[in-house]
Amino acid sequence: MTPAIATLRVYSTGDLREDGDYVVYWMIAARRTHYSHALQHAAHLCEALGKPLVVLEAIRADSRWASERVHRYVIQGMADNAARFADKGVAYHPYVEPSHGDGTGLLEALAERACLVVTDTFPSHFLPRMVAAVRERLDVRLDEVDGNGVIPLRAPDRDFTVAHSFRRWLQKNVAELWDPPVADPLTRATAGATIPGAVRERWPAFADGSPTGDEPLPAPLAASLAGTPGPIPERGGPAAAREAWRTFWEGKFERYHEDRSHPDDGVQSGLSGWLHFGHLGVHEVLADVLADWDPATARKATGKREGWWGLPEASEAFLDEILTWREIGYIQAFREGENFAHYQSLPAWARESLAEHAGDPREVYTLEQLAESRTDDVLWNAAQRELVRTGRIHNALRMLWGKKVLQWTASPQQAFAFLVELNNRYAIDGRNPNSYSGIGWVLGRFDRAWGPERPIFGKVRYMTSDSARRKWRVKQYLSRFG
Ligand SMILES: Cc1cc2nc3c(=O)[nH]c(=O)nc-3n(C[C@H](O)[C@H](O)[C@H](O)COP(=O)(O)OP(=O)(O)OC[C@H]3O[C@@H](n4cnc5c(N)ncnc54)[C@H](O)[C@@H]3O)c2cc1C
Repeated sequence: MTPAIATLRVYSTGDLREDGDYVVYWMIAARRTHYSHALQHAAHLCEALGKPLVVLEAIRADSRWASERVHRYVIQGMADNAARFADKGVAYHPYVEPSHGDGTGLLEALAERACLVVTDTFPSHFLPRMVAAVRERLDVRLDEVDGNGVIPLRAPDRDFTVAHSFRRWLQKNVAELWDPPVADPLTRATAGATIPGAVRERWPAFADGSPTGDEPLPAPLAASLAGTPGPIPERGGPAAAREAWRTFWEGKFERYHEDRSHPDDGVQSGLSGWLHFGHLGVHEVLADVLADWDPATARKATGKREGWWGLPEASEAFLDEILTWREIGYIQAFREGENFAHYQSLPAWARESLAEHAGDPREVYTLEQLAESRTDDVLWNAAQRELVRTGRIHNALRMLWGKKVLQWTASPQQAFAFLVELNNRYAIDGRNPNSYSGIGWVLGRFDRAWGPERPIFGKVRYMTSDSARRKWRVKQYLSRFG
């Protein structure tokens, strides 16, 4: 990492305790052991200070939209991480909070004997609030490391209201900001610590610190999560994530630009759940996609969607999703803070146009009717069923899924609220900056005004199930989820 980029990625507060016993890495977003800027930073400090590493990975009992689905996925990730840390001799404490408040004081107790605490920056859900509160409480240095994407969240000094302007900015700056973390940051310096006995006693590690991922949840937690969405067929964790990427990369990737919009063909990576929980880092994926890219040959930035990288069409199309669309969401969520998760963060032109059409007649469904796929639109019902059963919706259909909810709710504000609720309750990748950029996009975010003006939509881009069914291959999809 060059010093300039390190400054952009690491935000440091408090004082180093040089006579501490170890370095703590509080793993809250980049829940993996490979290609992680935060773990690399912590390992580097272990080396510099001559102190071993202690890793705390926890999950709270009661966060908003907590579910069996999310817990199982995270715990499966803990199983992979536990195995890998054990292999490397690194002290790892996976903690699954049994009931609200049980985990209070755990980080502070570990930090009492720490030289410093390293953690992740993540610009969504309750994490920014949680880290801000810890920053106030800790009496030792806290390094917050941003390993979210290729562009550090602090790098742009302006907002981006449309994808085109961010794309152009990215093209201008990406070569300079390209700083992949090392594949394996764990070294001999990180090994050899033990979790203090008092911590282990008061906050016992889940499954004695060596989960397989399939253990029952602690009883109070199981009771509090009863009735929430259940586990999905996809397994959480870095191992499944890396395997999914390899399978996609070696199998369907080269067809991505042509076939990704057809739900029947399944030509999408399916990575978003793992990316959301940090089970997979974007740099690991890009190590393959950009293997033949030479930053020194970067061309003039035009903001054009294709052709700038000088790579095959599939790579260009994939990069536009995983870089332009993914990172504009992270960057704006970071810049706008909590506001990004609210209706008023939508562009003024969209809010004005939607307000002008607020009185247009419409058919209205309740949240329950939507959640239970009880509309008169077969394709929409199938997408919602896919979401409930598998925790995901095919990428192209997700746009249609959102647009229809705008048509079926009493107001655009209610559409936003219903979409947030359905997305974050069921989607494995929900509660992410891209939850709010995707839902916001449905209502005009990062888009421009379109004509002709339509009922309900006004100048916001319009989509219908009929046109989707004409354009996309959906027959098998409908027989699976219809
Ligand atoms: C209404 C709505 C809600 C959405 N909610 C979420 C969400 O909760 N979490 C989430 O991660 N994404 C969300 N998206 C964006 C997008 O739909 C998903 O990222 C994508 O469907 C994930 O599937 P995939 O991994 O197979 O994508 P692929 O097509 O394989 O793309 C690769 C990666 O690029 C990124 N990406 C792809 N499309 C987009 C996009 N439009 N915007 C931002 N990043 C993108 C994702 O990280 C994705 O994993 C939403 C979009 C809409 C329209």
